[in-house]
Amino acid sequence: MTELSRLYESEVREWCRQEGFPAFRGGQIFQWIHRGADWDEMTNLPAGMREALKQKAVAQPVRILQSRKSSVDDTVKFLFGLEDGNCVEGVLMHYHHGVTLCISTQVGCRMGCTFCASTLEGCIRNLTAGEMLGEILCANRFLGADTRVHNVVLMGSGEPLDNYEEVTRFFRLLREPDGICLSLRNVSLSTCGLVPQMYRLADEDLPVTLCVSLHAPNDTIRRQTMPIAQRYSMDEILKACRYYVEKTGRRVIFEYALIGGVNALPAQARELAGHLRGLQCHVNLIPLNTVRERKLNGVTEREVQNFLHELEQCHVSATRRREMGDDIAGACGQLRRSVLHDEAVQESGSERT
Ligand code: SAH
Repeated sequence: MTELSRLYESEVREWCRQEGFPAFRGGQIFQWIHRGADWDEMTNLPAGMREALKQKAVAQPVRILQSRKSSVDDTVKFLFGLEDGNCVEGVLMHYHHGVTLCISTQVGCRMGCTFCASTLEGCIRNLTAGEMLGEILCANRFLGADTRVHNVVLMGSGEPLDNYEEVTRFFRLLREPDGICLSLRNVSLSTCGLVPQMYRLADEDLPVTLCVSLHAPNDTIRRQTMPIAQRYSMDEILKACRYYVEKTGRRVIFEYALIGGVNALPAQARELAGHLRGLQCHVNLIPLNTVRERKLNGVTEREVQNFLHELEQCHVSATRRREMGDDIAGACGQLRRSVLHDEAVQESGSERT
């Protein structure tokens, strides 16, 4: 089966031609796919052709298995089902500047950060560009006719730069003229700091906002929670960030999860500020979302405010990230894990009965 949603319009036309359908049908199919339609909804294709196409290709490789709406702030957490039975998470957040969707880029993750739920079972596979697009298309359908996703952040499960080819294909798909036409200015990619790919991305004409998960004021502490820090030093990461700013003219966002007793002291805020001097950037502070399987401590609101205050004193632009949808399994990988776990419990339960 060919996954048509990962193809550019020219490629869908070419595919149609090779399969014996007129190339212009490819243009129609492409437009339908980007509107979220599946075969039966493509009403300007002859019924016989639709049946033939169904046997050869997948139009929508993602569907919503479950959605949980927060009672506090309208945040929606999705569990997306994929064709091979795998599932990934996405989160829809309503901000005053529009609707933001957080999408996954891999099933699981192989980066091994000690605070993160997505990586507990390693990486099962990369998502395709069509599946990443599919997450947005599902969310758009969920939202209905009046509104749609305005901003996309690659901050769900997975390390986007570890799936470089499909992620950059996805970016190019977003700006196809007859597609969903989402400006790359409204897209943010978050990485744990894969330095060579950061340079590579800077050199593409794909001006997304680069977010870097720093989570530490120095390499010693970074190595305690992020295995990738053994490979690349903070100096190397910050050098790549400077290059990114130079090439794209966009400031870099640093994510900093505050972990009690590890990286949350005011002196550590000053140390961090020292590294960021002269770099066009912004720091996003995230109070650690505690994960059941991980033995790390969160921080008090006072610790967050002290850290923030210290950064501001050092003239570093910083904010505390709003926690959204706290009541619906907030942190990466938690919903998928809780669902898989519940299923496992049910399955083992039914075995026993
Ligand atoms: N692999 C990418 C993107 C995925 S996660 C990256 O590392 O940036 C998106 C963000 O959530 C990252 O900054 C990640 O470090 C952070 N994160 C993961 N688990 C968290 C937790 N339990 N509490 C707070 N932030 C967490």
